[in-house]
Amino acid sequence: MMSEPPFVSGFMPEGGDYNPEEVVVLLFEEYEAIKLSDYTHLTQLEASKKLGVSRPTFTRIYDSARKKIALAFVENKRIVIQGGEVEFEENWYRCGNCGSVFKQNKKSGKKLKCPVCDSEEVTLLQHDREVRSGGPGFEPGFGRQRRRGRGPQGFCICPKCDYKIAHEPGVPCNSLLCPHCDIRMIKEDSEHYQTILKKRKIN
Ligand SMILES: [Zn+2]
Ligand SMILES: [Zn+2]
Repeated sequence: MMSEPPFVSGFMPEGGDYNPEEVVVLLFEEYEAIKLSDYTHLTQLEASKKLGVSRPTFTRIYDSARKKIALAFVENKRIVIQGGEVEFEENWYRCGNCGSVFKQNKKSGKKLKCPVCDSEEVTLLQHDREVRSGGPGFEPGFGRQRRRGRGPQGFCICPKCDYKIAHEPGVPCNSLLCPHCDIRMIKEDSEHYQTILKKRKIN
């Protein structure tokens, strides 16, 4: 069981040549294994309990995660984080049209739509197994922050209601959830936000 999905859908090599088609797919549970062990510093036993798997299974997941990350680092490959067997404590979705990530109760009875752009092209994150080679998450330079001339830090903004708060260095905007919309916030001066403004439904 994971409390929430990672804040980004992947990582891209910077500065070197790489083939955008060649990706290393890191499963959600592999990401979580690295996070619990090497970031949160839990023992493997504690981490296995958190993830809800046996200790040997945890070790296998963790080893696989490290090998994949090493491969990506050494061979200049993109990492895409998706799929796997995990469950999240709540239902998280990603919009295939504008790239927004939001949580929503499955039992609301309403047809599932992106709250930002109204697209029905939304997938439950843990079922999101398809590797996308294009699309919002992976355009070169996507999400890169352009700081010049925008004040020192800028703002994190909700892609739907434009609620914004000052960006704090070291705290990724998409680790914050809009308190009104349950949508992950994004950096106001990012290309992703510009993309969303073009795709957003007009109220
Ligand atoms: Zn959308
Ligand atoms: Zn909002």
